[in-house]
Amino acid sequence: MYNIRLLRHLRWPGGPHRLMASQHKRPHLLGSSDQLEQLKSNYFERRQELSGDEWHSVRHSLIEGYRHINGHNVDAVILGVCSGPQQLPLAKNYVDYLKSTGAEPNAATLGRLLRVYNAAYHTRPLSEEEQRDILKICESLQAAHETLDATSCEQLIHGLVATTDHWQRALPLLEMMKVTSTPSVSAYSALTEKAFGQSDQTELAWRLLEEMVLARKQPKCEVYLALLNRLAQEPATASVQLERLLQFLERHNILVSQKVAERLLQLGEQLPQQLRVTASRLGPLGKCLECRQHLQPVAISEEQFRQLSECFLEKVLIRGDVFQKSTPEEVLRFKQYVEKTAPYDCVIDGLNVAYSTGAKKAPQQLAKLLATVVRHFKERNKRVLVLGREHMRKWSKSAMHYVQNNASLFLTNNLSHDDPFLLYATLRSGQETDFFSRDLMRTHAFLLGAELKPIFRRWQQEHQFSLVTQTQTGRIIVKEPIRHRLCVHKAKAGSWHVPYCEAYTPNPTDSFEVPEHWLCLSLKT
Ligand SMILES: [Zn+2]
Repeated sequence: MYNIRLLRHLRWPGGPHRLMASQHKRPHLLGSSDQLEQLKSNYFERRQELSGDEWHSVRHSLIEGYRHINGHNVDAVILGVCSGPQQLPLAKNYVDYLKSTGAEPNAATLGRLLRVYNAAYHTRPLSEEEQRDILKICESLQAAHETLDATSCEQLIHGLVATTDHWQRALPLLEMMKVTSTPSVSAYSALTEKAFGQSDQTELAWRLLEEMVLARKQPKCEVYLALLNRLAQEPATASVQLERLLQFLERHNILVSQKVAERLLQLGEQLPQQLRVTASRLGPLGKCLECRQHLQPVAISEEQFRQLSECFLEKVLIRGDVFQKSTPEEVLRFKQYVEKTAPYDCVIDGLNVAYSTGAKKAPQQLAKLLATVVRHFKERNKRVLVLGREHMRKWSKSAMHYVQNNASLFLTNNLSHDDPFLLYATLRSGQETDFFSRDLMRTHAFLLGAELKPIFRRWQQEHQFSLVTQTQTGRIIVKEPIRHRLCVHKAKAGSWHVPYCEAYTPNPTDSFEVPEHWLCLSLKT
């Protein structure tokens, strides 16, 4: 079944060079590469233990077979390969083997062992003896180093949350991580998941969850599942906690995964007195096919628009970093131009539009596309401002003449960034003004801070047009804004609508696509 001689001569696809390259860039990924995965499935999955000779051979063949694996890191690599929940006995067996040879496993190796304990913990409760082992490892690592690096802290956190009574010792480790970096998604998720699992630690869990999201870390599904699993046991608090969860998802514009949506559906079956949950889809114009209510319009209130434009126009622009690639003279010239020619119905990012079907086109084609977009709005009697760069003057004369005769045209220095100009002119024109660009404006949304970001995003969704494509005949297809909300929210009659995506992703896109799948959920108080 297990042929050590075969392993010795094994050459994995891609060879050692590929591994080495990724190792230099991201050393913490050691052991997660395809080649080692293959070692795992071919050799480690069915064994609970190997003999001393076999471990000796595995160790040496790895050191000999890969230039990036050496005596210092081979043990951590091996434990990285035996990382599945069923492989805890094998991982422990390897550490015992090391000790039997008189070697002291290093911090990276013990850290990896803690992750294997954590994996096992997610499939079954750990025995008291296993929990004692975890504590012993954590204590020895902490005794050896006064301050631990972020990776070691993360490993210890994963070990400690697998214990019943000592998991709160992981909290100071999360603080220690902050000294050198932002704690990772998995460190935050592990602790928040644990806290949600305890009836008396709900406030701690919510605090961690908020903190995590503000640090731009997307919580893993397990965090929400831990809360929902506990609510299934505590029907009395379910409505209040669910409302809090839905408000949290709304506030941070978070799309949960199908796994979480399925758990919500199941919870509806478990607690019919507390909530009703059904899967739903949206009809035209954002009508829920289940409850027949329309989703809320995305439009923000006048007051919110006032706050948003004030903050953007005054704080963000005056602070200066948005216009950092422009000279003060250019910014002043632009502001004066806007004062003179605003308001507009639509502000077009000329360069973004021209390049949106590919940048490698002849200047004549680029100019023609821009002129076509201007015509699109002109035909609808819209007052248009086109922002562009000086070098566009050299584009096709006739097309640029069309643009100039049918729109206001402001050209900036070739090095300037266009978005700040675009947002300035659009917001300055008033609440009804739209803009045309494919840019997602992430940086600007972020600069506005946690409170205004969601308002900016709603304003953006309501007012952003972009080009989908140009057909063979030259006709353009324009993507119009979607006017109803696309995130978790409560409809007028009181039921919540919860969009969900297929699977968790650490970096969700900020695009405004209509989610295909929704839950229609009402809480009974
Ligand atoms: Zn509904």
